[in-house]
Amino acid sequence: MKILLHICCGPCSIYPIEVLKNDGMDVTGYYYRHNIHPYSECLKRQKTLKKYSESIGLKLIIQEGYELEAFLRNVIFRENERCSLCYHERLKSTAMIAKRGKFDLFSSTLLFSKFQKHEMIKSIGEAVGKSVGIRFYYHDFREGWKEGVEESKYLKMYRQQYCGCIYSEKERFYKSEQRDGSE
Ligand code: SF4
Repeated sequence: MKILLHICCGPCSIYPIEVLKNDGMDVTGYYYRHNIHPYSECLKRQKTLKKYSESIGLKLIIQEGYELEAFLRNVIFRENERCSLCYHERLKSTAMIAKRGKFDLFSSTLLFSKFQKHEMIKSIGEAVGKSVGIRFYYHDFREGWKEGVEESKYLKMYRQQYCGCIYSEKERFYKSEQRDGSE
């Protein structure tokens, strides 16, 4: 079975790739870029993932372009719903490439993270799969959270501090600063 795996970052890819390979799948990674801000951060994550992919012999597709403006236009005035819109864009893009490339399945490393909205990702993935005409592979990769995190630390991978978009960067740094009462 050929599967196209959307990869949000190197550390989150370790465990899902291992599971899929152990299941006998032919895995290709897909790095989606528009939701990772700023651009220098996007490149940092990309470089980490590329290096890891090369080290394990993973085929990797890197999305072309960097449509920061389109990302922002899509979520503006509905920032509270931004994650569902963002998941939808990322999964739709993955499904369409998988369909064009004649893959059997598509999935996402978003299903690995304890910090993402897991059930929402599952239902959006399934809905997108139906509309594009390719099956979404669901697995609760969170079972390997500890293992994946430890391995990424062992490999000294760059581990980011926030999800990706500028809103999540603000939540991570500005809001935690407010909570801590520091300057
Ligand atoms: S917090 Fe993460 S999932 Fe939500 S919109 Fe930002 S990048 Fe996308």
